[in-house]
Amino acid sequence: MIKIAVLAVQGAFIEHIKMLERLGVECIELRQRADLELAFDGLILPGGESTVQGKLLRELGMFDLLQERIRDGLPVLATCAGLILLAEKLSNDDKAYFQTLPVTVKRNAYGRQLGSFSVPGDLEGIGTFPMEFIRAPYIEEVGHGVQVLARVEGNIAAVSYQNQLGTAFHPELTEDVRIHEAFLRLINFNTRAFQIF
Ligand code: GLN
Repeated sequence: MIKIAVLAVQGAFIEHIKMLERLGVECIELRQRADLELAFDGLILPGGESTVQGKLLRELGMFDLLQERIRDGLPVLATCAGLILLAEKLSNDDKAYFQTLPVTVKRNAYGRQLGSFSVPGDLEGIGTFPMEFIRAPYIEEVGHGVQVLARVEGNIAAVSYQNQLGTAFHPELTEDVRIHEAFLRLINFNTRAFQIF
């Protein structure tokens, strides 16, 4: 039986856990360095505040170990702030975090008026998906090998790359389990993200 670790230092991690439990998957919460010694097959980086999460990951001594595991192929589903943590580059911030996903991301990209919105968007291989954006980033540029899975108003809102799936929106805040199911397929088939869609 597969076990998924959800980063639980800040943000919307409980919603991911609830969704995975609905799918019958066992979860563990990563709150401190010692939790990284537990066995797990996949990682979820939830939405929240990437600056706070990035700082806590370093302060708690979890950053380097997780970065190494992701580089080594650990399957990751990253939503919103999680996507920011994975990005190789941020266009409107000098910081960057794990840098395992070759994309350039713009934080809070929709401005103040459009802080939060919800639209049905077209997701590659899945179809229409309810996309919930909350002070969301979008992806401005993608590097070699990155597959674009969704665009919303012309802006890239979801990508896959090797073992990494990233969405600018929040699938865990909807009732739609299809992205989490796709993530479970990625783990089960031990394949590359683009092959599951
Ligand atoms: N605006 C947040 C950030 O920059 C992301 C928002 C979210 O995860 N919903 O980290």
